[in-house]
This record gives sequence, structure tokens and C-alpha cells, in this order.
Amino acid sequence: MNLVMMGIQGCGKGTQAELLEQHFGWRHINIGNLFRSNIERQTELGKEASKYTEKGELVPDELVYEVIKDAIRKADKGLILDGFPRNLAQHEFLVENVKIDKVFLLDLDTETAIKRISSRRHCENCKRDYNLLYNKPKEKGVCDDCGGNLVQRKDDNEEAVALRIEKFYQETGKVIDLYRKQNKLISINADQGIQEIHRQILAELSC
Ligand SMILES: [Zn+2]
Repeated sequence: MNLVMMGIQGCGKGTQAELLEQHFGWRHINIGNLFRSNIERQTELGKEASKYTEKGELVPDELVYEVIKDAIRKADKGLILDGFPRNLAQHEFLVENVKIDKVFLLDLDTETAIKRISSRRHCENCKRDYNLLYNKPKEKGVCDDCGGNLVQRKDDNEEAVALRIEKFYQETGKVIDLYRKQNKLISINADQGIQEIHRQILAELSC
């Protein structure tokens, strides 16, 4: 089974992809995380990518394809693409490289998404993720696990998020339309609890 999880940033598609990975053993492919790890390790790919992400811009397609091809090769049971494809060119690339069975759209309004993302923090030291809305640390600004400082990612500020959401509707909207026409698209209300959304996705997959 090969899935695509779509939705604006903050819709929780990464969390749902992780739950599916645990449940079925399919490989969760998150483009953002793959790049972040390359940037942290200062690989050639990472250095090239950081030129864009530092300005709050998206990484160009050629760089994304290298990372995805590698990930597809390693996914033998199935895969869950998270944050890809985000435009028609990427969709074309996917058609040539892997067969997609179903596409989930986690539907969330822009205002809620911006609120969720600008509340994100992570530990500088151990990288554990927090959210000041629903996953707060016990002590303000301090990691529960290691006592490290909690910081905000450079690209999680409100302006950068709003820009990415606008771009999502301009570019990714066309891909969503395509999947809808192919009857692969399943839309889920993302303004619900994590477990409830997970339950609905499992129900859709079992039929
Ligand atoms: Zn920590």
C-alpha cells in the first residue's frame, strides 16, 4: 500500500503518518525531516537546501527527487508520503516512480493552522517536540527529558507559515484536484483529536 498524506502545514499529517507507520510497518517519508537531518549533518544536499529554507522558501524539486528516490528504494512493505507531491511536476515524477493507492487530505482552516505552528517548540539539545497549545513542557521553556532550552524553528514564525499556506493552495491545490478526479482522494476533518482522525483513516483503509 502506497499512500500520500496531504494538507496544509499544521494539519497533523505527520502525526497521522507516524501512527500508520507504527500500525502497518509502512515507511513514513517526511521530506521536511529528511532535509532537516541533511542540514544538521551538513551534507552537500543539506548545504544546498539550507540556502532556501533559511529564507523560508521551499527546497527546489531536483533536490527533493534525489531524497525521494532513495526513500522509495528502501520502502519494501509500503510507504506513506508526507509533504509530497506539492506541485504538478512532483506529481509527474511520482507517476513515473511509484504507484499511489490512496490519498488522504487532512482538511484544516488557515487560522487554526497558523496558531498551531507558531506554538511549536523543540528542545535545542535532544530535539524533542513540544506545542504550547496541547503538548506543553512541565516547566516553561525547559525540556522535560533533558533540561535543554526550548526554541522555535526559524521557519515556524507566522509570516513564513502564512506564505507556505498560500503557496500550498496555489500549487498543491492542482494536485489535489487531480487525485480527486482519479477517485483516490479521501478528505478527513483535521480539526479533531489525533486518535479520532487515526480511527477514521483506518476505517477508510479497511474497505
Ligand atoms: Zn531535551
